[in-house]
Amino acid sequence: MKNIIMLGAPGAGKGTQSALIAEEYHIPHISTGDILRKNIKEGTELGKLAKSYIDAGALVPDDVVIGIVADRLKEDDALNGYVLDGFPRTIAQAEALDKVAKIDIAVNIVVGFDVIVERLAGRRVCVCGATYHTSKLNGSTTCAKCGKELFFRDDDKPETVRARLETYEKQTAPLIGYYEKKGILVNVDATGTIEQDFEKIKKVLND
Ligand code: ADP
Ligand code: ZN
Repeated sequence: MKNIIMLGAPGAGKGTQSALIAEEYHIPHISTGDILRKNIKEGTELGKLAKSYIDAGALVPDDVVIGIVADRLKEDDALNGYVLDGFPRTIAQAEALDKVAKIDIAVNIVVGFDVIVERLAGRRVCVCGATYHTSKLNGSTTCAKCGKELFFRDDDKPETVRARLETYEKQTAPLIGYYEKKGILVNVDATGTIEQDFEKIKKVLND
């Protein structure tokens, strides 16, 4: 299978679609956001450092996340493809990634601003990495995959969302041009249902 990168604004659905891709193609879903949140929950040194940046809607320093991903990609399960979700997020991260990996395709998930705000406000997540939207939970407060209590991410508050979108425009959106120049960028309109969006992404990956 391919080495895949997912690009897109916060709330575009990278996490949800990455999880589906991982399941469909039996490859690991490597999410820097999930790794950082797990460390915050566990109170590790990395978690303490990351929290201040995340709560401000800023990015965790490049050297920190680059180290995390470089180590993760060395594990055996990453030998036959993977889907990277939330990394790279800066040009420096993309350049560092080029030194340790050969990326086959960058899938850019495109959605409008109004959709993003709606998705983030209703988002509930689990420590296991699963993501839900309140409109589909029917009042449930626990994870359908592992049974743990779901939580609302502090950084999904409207004030922080604004900062994250600015961070995205300034630091992450330039990656679209970066991968376009390499000839591996594919844009996918993701304003349909989760299932419809996934069908489109599968077509792109199977090409
Ligand atoms: P989203 O894509 O919805 O913004 P993520 O779970 O991918 O959410 O990331 C949450 C936060 O974790 C980011 O706002 C950022 O502070 C931090 N983070 C995640 N990945 C990276 C990365 N590659 N580089 C720097 N910071 C990161
Ligand atoms: Zn769970």
